[in-house]
Amino acid sequence: MTIQKNRDAVFAAVELATKQANRPQNSVRVIAVTKYVDSSLAKELVNTGIQHIGENRVDKFLDKYHALSSENLTWHLIGSLQRRKVKAVINYVDYFHALDSVKLAEEINKRATKPVKCFLQVNISGEESKHGFSIEEIDQAVDVMKDFEQVELVGLMTMAPFEASHEELNAIFSKAESLRKELAEKHLPHMPFTELSMGMSGDFTEAIDNGSTFVRIGTAFFK
Ligand SMILES: *Cc1c(COP(=O)(O)O)cnc(C)c1O
Repeated sequence: MTIQKNRDAVFAAVELATKQANRPQNSVRVIAVTKYVDSSLAKELVNTGIQHIGENRVDKFLDKYHALSSENLTWHLIGSLQRRKVKAVINYVDYFHALDSVKLAEEINKRATKPVKCFLQVNISGEESKHGFSIEEIDQAVDVMKDFEQVELVGLMTMAPFEASHEELNAIFSKAESLRKELAEKHLPHMPFTELSMGMSGDFTEAIDNGSTFVRIGTAFFK
């Protein structure tokens, strides 16, 4: 495994996709998802030039957070979070990508000592195995969350089905972008909705084509 080569290839591919989408350079940030490796390999990757790091489980997030505390990193919790675990982790999280219920938002609002940047997870494909609000549920959820001032809704997060075709990926990701735009245009307090978290190792090109601002990439760094 050649981590430096993988790192360079991922960043070059993201840069190329950004350029081909006629979007400004650096408008897409790469989150290195380190869930497949231990802290020492994660550290090796960080040392090749990584700013954003992501984990999907609370226990592994905390392990990496403590092991890499000397690095100046931005920390992303990208996987679903149980309410009983919010207290243990939320004040270490810079961005939380998987806000999938009003009750979870309420708990975050209660436990956070400063505003936490959160993405509403939306299940656009309608796959039963996926977490997230359905499109129809979003407006009402956002309305309740107006009272949760520690929950800063920076954008939407979505995941496409693993086996989706190029056309299906474009349909899902463009729908996410249009939903995001509608929400941003409401100009609600503490809900800027400027960001889109979408795109993984297999589908980041389509995600960037459709306006993604954060891609979450794991496999491509460690293959
Ligand atoms: C694992 C994971 C990723 C990274 O997926 P790869 O296909 O390995 O790039 C992205 N987002 C979430 C929520 C994940 O759990």
